[in-house]
Amino acid sequence: MSQVAHADRDHALLSASGAHRWLHCTPSARLEASLPDTTSEAAKKGTLAHEIAELKLRKHFVEPMGPQKFAAAMRKFKKHELYEPEMDTHTDMYLENIQRIVHSFSSQPYITIERKVDLTTYVPESFGTSDCIIIGGKQLHVIDYKNGQGVPVPAEQNPQMMLYALGALRHYSLLYEIETVHLSIVQPKVWDEPSEWSLPVNDLLAWGESIKPIAQAAYKGEGEYVIGEHCGFCRARNTCRARVEQLLSVEEIAPLKPPLIGWDEVGEVLQRADGIVKWYNSLKEAALAHTLAGGEVEGWKAVEGRGLRQFADLDAAFAHLKANGVDEALLYERKPITAAATEKLFENKKQYKELLEDTGHVIKLPGAPTLVPVGDKRPPITNRVSPEDAFSQPANS
Ligand code: SF4
Repeated sequence: MSQVAHADRDHALLSASGAHRWLHCTPSARLEASLPDTTSEAAKKGTLAHEIAELKLRKHFVEPMGPQKFAAAMRKFKKHELYEPEMDTHTDMYLENIQRIVHSFSSQPYITIERKVDLTTYVPESFGTSDCIIIGGKQLHVIDYKNGQGVPVPAEQNPQMMLYALGALRHYSLLYEIETVHLSIVQPKVWDEPSEWSLPVNDLLAWGESIKPIAQAAYKGEGEYVIGEHCGFCRARNTCRARVEQLLSVEEIAPLKPPLIGWDEVGEVLQRADGIVKWYNSLKEAALAHTLAGGEVEGWKAVEGRGLRQFADLDAAFAHLKANGVDEALLYERKPITAAATEKLFENKKQYKELLEDTGHVIKLPGAPTLVPVGDKRPPITNRVSPEDAFSQPANS
């Protein structure tokens, strides 16, 4: 089996996965290249989940393998220290989505997995690896699996997916006539359904032309530093001067005339403060790591945090307590697991839902009100009583 070692993949200076960043902030790619690449635990988990996803796709579409061989490969993944049972269900969702797309064709489409695509027509020295490409009936499907839960990644106008699609067109447009491009991102920790977006092939090609000068500037490290939500995964996010200066500048807020800011201004203040809090926490973490490694941060030092008490030897401590008159019943507590934790008792979410939610044994209570940006997909709520509600109350209630 020729499975790709995801962690060992090469990365282009202008990678497709970083396009969201270098298209907004053209000097960022060269700046990032000058900084060490550290891989977070979340990224390592993502790599593992991708390897499981690839195995499942290969089994179904490329290299049929017997149940024993598949089970042996899965056992190996399950022994990995970062393995989580939900990786199995989530990669099943990814597989099911690809099966749905494959079955939507009247005849077997072409399917390729972990395809390295050449992006140099649009972006200097760039390439990327697409999780799955399906072609048939003048349709090109590009499908990506995302394991993260912190940041939802929609397919619409997604430059990484659009670049993969352009790379696929370069490889396959001589062999297949393609009219429509479908992009789909499966992110099971965020959405139950994949995020999908389609566009005519000519629109995609026009977009590819439009980014050429931006990619040239990014390749040369030219242009202005532009801060925004794309800074979140930038290697320079903690110490980028442009970001620090803009986050901490108050000129735009300072000239506000009245002594109290109005609700019309609060939105922007909250948005900026949110960026400052995230950046502050991330910078503090980086400064701690720097200090622990022997570096100096003027005015700060690393110390031991508050320690936790724990038994040196649990059995010996409990025996000692009992010998000194403490009733054994007082030493243990029996607590029910939470409703959310019961989901992990089942192989898949469907079983859990049928047994507990559909039978009314698990009910959903409304969460505490929380303030989120207006783009959040949840509907707004209010405590205000509407005239309709007020007049629909029974008279004697
Ligand atoms: S932190 Fe933001 S502004 Fe600074 S280089 Fe990175 S993407 Fe550009």
